[in-house]
Amino acid sequence: MRNKEMKELYLQNSLTKKKELFKPITEGFIGMYVCGPTVYSDVHLGNVRTFISFDIMYRFLLHLGYKVRYVRNITDVGHLLDDGEDRISKGARADKLEPMEVVQKYTNGFHKMMDIFNTHRPSIEPRATQHILEQIEMVQQIIDNGYGYEANGSVYFDTLKFHEEKKCYGKLSGRVIDELLVETRDNLKNQSDKKHPSDFAIWMKAAPEHLMKWNSPWSVGFPGWHLECSVMSTKYLGETFDIHGGGNDLKFPHHENEVAQNVGACNCQPANYWLHTNMLLMNGRKMSKSDGNTITPDQLFTGDSPHITKAYSPMVIKFFMLQSHYSSTNDLVDDGLLAAEKGYRRLMEAQKTLAELQTTGAGNELDTDVTGPLDKFITEMCDDFNTPRAIAQLFELVTKINSFKEGHLDINKISVDTLARLQKDFPCYISKVLGLKNEIEAGNNGELEGVMQLVLDLRQDARANKNWAISDKIRDALAEAKIVVKDGKDGSSWTMN
Ligand code: AMP
Ligand code: ZN
Repeated sequence: MRNKEMKELYLQNSLTKKKELFKPITEGFIGMYVCGPTVYSDVHLGNVRTFISFDIMYRFLLHLGYKVRYVRNITDVGHLLDDGEDRISKGARADKLEPMEVVQKYTNGFHKMMDIFNTHRPSIEPRATQHILEQIEMVQQIIDNGYGYEANGSVYFDTLKFHEEKKCYGKLSGRVIDELLVETRDNLKNQSDKKHPSDFAIWMKAAPEHLMKWNSPWSVGFPGWHLECSVMSTKYLGETFDIHGGGNDLKFPHHENEVAQNVGACNCQPANYWLHTNMLLMNGRKMSKSDGNTITPDQLFTGDSPHITKAYSPMVIKFFMLQSHYSSTNDLVDDGLLAAEKGYRRLMEAQKTLAELQTTGAGNELDTDVTGPLDKFITEMCDDFNTPRAIAQLFELVTKINSFKEGHLDINKISVDTLARLQKDFPCYISKVLGLKNEIEAGNNGELEGVMQLVLDLRQDARANKNWAISDKIRDALAEAKIVVKDGKDGSSWTMN
């Protein structure tokens, strides 16, 4: 199954806290589950970073020749806010919509944004509300195995009993269960229906005003948030599969509880390798709406934010993100974006230069100057998808390509085969493996269409809300970028000046 480029792949496994040699359950095949978005508001840049990271992993695994089943869910029920309200219901009440209208609206928005960032759609994108029956079945399995108990129509997972028997609660997140137990025993009297404060709901009885609820053996209610991922990963990938991913803010309680549910229901660990992405920061601080330290993708595309000096294109933003390893924090700063824009341009221009190079193949003394960085690109990606170091290899090649063009290096000292490999692999690594489109070449020929549509939609919203200041600001900023917007009775259109 694997092609000849296949090398040993090492992954930083959160479950064992070690970098490990990856061994698939079935040679040549990989099952990968990634926690998807909760679709109650617009996708934010932090989400984008996480989903781009998993897209790169998916792309690279495909490049290595694996057949990958990539499952990424849509959370459309059960993910509660701190005040206990379901996120989707809150969105529905706020916008006076049906909950499923909210789900559709933000799922569409999420897809559009991920298309703009040129990511692949997953192989399966299951929704939690489409798997209520399977979730009820898993709750029953957990009860039958003695790890769930009912109280007043809700069902809770018995973490204490589970840990006493299986000794693994806290293994993934590093939460020390003994400390948790001492602390929680003291607090026990404050908990109402739970036997133990670290117990968590796997089925919740719904209050009469609750919008999304289903019949179950225990009450009219809804499933706990963690349950959906246990159920959908098992359904589509089996009781044990290869890779489970998500942002590291999900390690506890979401992923820890997922493991507990799977072990509690099926008596086996769900995933062999757990991969966690780190958070996107801005100006060194966590992105946070409450203190204004936040920026949306649209603001980046239009330049309409006090945090940046100009607009940035989706591929520049993506390139910027790939210059950090997925497991490190990624600090969005204007200087970094400016530098990324320059780097991205160099990379795209080198592709054009490379396409025009020719060699007589008289010598081959410089072959390893070219094949070395090409090989190393793959080695770096095999080292836990190290995109920053892999990109450094591409820049080694950019320098060589420019030197060949300018005559500082003699192009005839590389063989015909090596130049052919460079002309094939260099653009392939950029576009197929890193998923970077060439926006510079694309110009006005349709590649910008997605972004421009988004910008025009935003301007349309502003006009509908009679927010003339924003609408004019967008038009003027586009004019500066030599894009002319024309308003007609069927909406707005654009052309390059
Ligand atoms: P949510 O829609 O909140 O369930 O999040 C979807 C995914 O985005 C999860 O894997 C989160 O861990 C991830 N995520 C949320 N915030 C950030 C952030 N600031 N940086 C990177 N990933 C994030
Ligand atoms: Zn999940």
